[in-house]
Parts: sequence; structure tokens; C-alpha cells
Amino acid sequence: MQKLANLSKLALAGLFSLSLVACGGSNESKTNETAQAAPAAKVEPIEWKMVTTWPKNFPALGTGAEKLATSITEMSGGRLKVKVYAAGELVPALEAFDAVSRGTAQMGHAASYYWKGKVPAAQFFTTTPFGLTAQEMNSWLYSGGGMELWEEIYAPFNIVPMAAGNTGVQMGGWFNKEINSVADLDGLKMRMPGLGGEVIAKAGATVVNMPGSEIFTALQTGAIDATEWVGPYNDLAFGIYKAAKYYYFPGWQEPGSAVETFINKDAFAALPKDLQQIVRAAARQANADMLDEFTALNNSALETLVNEHHVQLKRFPNDVLAELRTASDKVMAEVAANDPASQKVYDSMKAFKEKVMKWHEISERAFINARAGE
Ligand code: CA
Repeated sequence: MQKLANLSKLALAGLFSLSLVACGGSNESKTNETAQAAPAAKVEPIEWKMVTTWPKNFPALGTGAEKLATSITEMSGGRLKVKVYAAGELVPALEAFDAVSRGTAQMGHAASYYWKGKVPAAQFFTTTPFGLTAQEMNSWLYSGGGMELWEEIYAPFNIVPMAAGNTGVQMGGWFNKEINSVADLDGLKMRMPGLGGEVIAKAGATVVNMPGSEIFTALQTGAIDATEWVGPYNDLAFGIYKAAKYYYFPGWQEPGSAVETFINKDAFAALPKDLQQIVRAAARQANADMLDEFTALNNSALETLVNEHHVQLKRFPNDVLAELRTASDKVMAEVAANDPASQKVYDSMKAFKEKVMKWHEISERAFINARAGE
């Protein structure tokens, strides 16, 4: 937690006071170009608001938004200042997309699956059950055509998307019932949002939806048998180990959830080219930073959970994973068939996955097995 406190302090140090001047207009971009020719001229900084879907200083996600804002502000030498608003400070969490679309804020930070009601194809850019790992997701986005598709999907909303973080492989979740066979999924009361929830429902479970704040009591009272959350770092901070016996892996439902930043297209177009590149570079840096942070902190949090809190780690049996994989293929095909844009994105992602799986079979997996002596 000391580490978290330090991170929060660092992030908070990057906050700047809010000004109500108009942001991102073409006049400012001309002023900035002039400033490059004559550095002595006083230039008013461009001020952007970043709305997020995270509570203030939420581990890795809320702090990730703060770090991205600080990074843009510092890399631009203060010419582009970004101020972060936690969920509810400027607009409610789930209105962040609309706020950026209409220009109330110039920038947002979220997970794209929050917008699936408005943009069904958006959910594919966070993660898919049994889908791409973080490394594969980044490869698809930056070198496999994914980013172009994402831009195409968001363009009608006047928004430019960028990847801005990744959780890496999550955990399968916390259970008070052992999962020894496919039959144990039958009637299992589990909280799981999104596509993963649809999959586990198809496999026989009863999916219960509830806000994060109710999970702890629901596990303790038996209102639910299980819940998925994130991974050891977030789960330890949340204290779920006090209400559940077993901690299952792997997180088949979220194998590498991408976090996004999204920018009002007019505000982005009005920036001089160098500031546009700074925003892109800062997003790419944030994308790498978050995955590095999750990897390091999950690792140490898992040691604490097992050694100090005596959490029982368990792997899902192979036949259970096979059942969930089959259900995933069906759910994904159904979701894609209901929306042409989703079908286009799913086809691209699926084709990429099939190819990269062959390469990773003889590279990542072969090496990891060899390293472990298997
Ligand atoms: Ca999750």
C-alpha cells in the first residue's frame, strides 16, 4: 500500500488548476506555430479536460489516467495542459464518451466495453474471452490493422481512440465452491460483467450483476458463490480474500484488457503536429507503463495473498476450460452476427489470433515451458 500511496502522490503532483478558456481552437494552434518561430513570444497554454470512468486514484487505472495527463503536460513543456476529472467530478462515469464526443471535455480515459450499448463493436477493443494476450493485442492494434478499425468505429462519434494501458491476464475469480467438473458450473451464482458473463451463463451458471461495492457482502452472505474482479494487485487492495476461499486461474474471460484514451477529433486536429505526436507518444508510453505496473505488482500481491492470507490457489480443470472455450466461440459469433461493424472487427481479430497462436506456440509457450522444465 505504501507503493500505492507514493504512486498517488506522484500522480497528484501532476495536477494543474482548471481554466475556463476555450480549448483546442484553430487560433491556438496558429499561436503555437508562431511560438516555434519566435520562442520569446508569450504563448497561452492549451488546456484540456480529461474525464474518466475511474474513482480518484483507483489502483493502476485511475492513477494511469493521472500519469498520462502528467506525461502530456510535461512532454509538451506545459504547452498542452491536461487536467483529470475522476468519475462524477465533471460528468458521471458512463457519460464520458458523450462528453468527449460533443467537446465538453477534450479527452477521456476508460475501457471501451463500457460503450457497448452505444457502439457494440467497441467491446472488442477491451478484450474477448479466450482472445488476445496483452502482447498480442498490442501487436494486432499497432501492426495488424486493429487501430485503423478502432478509428473507423469511433469516427462517427467525432472521437480518436488510442490504447493507453493493459491489465495483462486477469484471474479467473474468487469462489466459495470448488469447480472440479463442468457440472459444478450448473447453477453457480457468479458475478461477471460483459462477454465473460454471457459465456458463463451459456455454460450453465446464473450470472448476477451488481456494483463492485456490493460484492463483498454478497460473497459473505452466500447471495453469490463467486465473482471475477481483476488480479492480485487490485483484489488484495479490495480485500476479497476475506470473503472467499478459492482463487482460480487462469482469467479466461479477460486475457489482457486494454484501457483506452479517446480524444475529441476537432480538438486533436487543432493541435500543431508536434503536440499531436506528443499525445500519441504519451498514450503509447502509458500503455506500456500500465502493463509493467500490473505485472510487477500482481506478482508481489500474489505472494502476500498466498503467504500471509493463506489463499488457496486453484487452476480450472481442463474440461471446464474446454466447455467455456466452446461457449465463448458461440457467444462471440452471436454478438458479431448481430452487428456488421462487430463482425468486421471480430473477423480481423480472429484471423490475427489464429496466425499469432501458431507463432506463439513455438515461441512464447515453447520457451515458457522450457524455462519451467516442462
Ligand atoms: Ca475483470
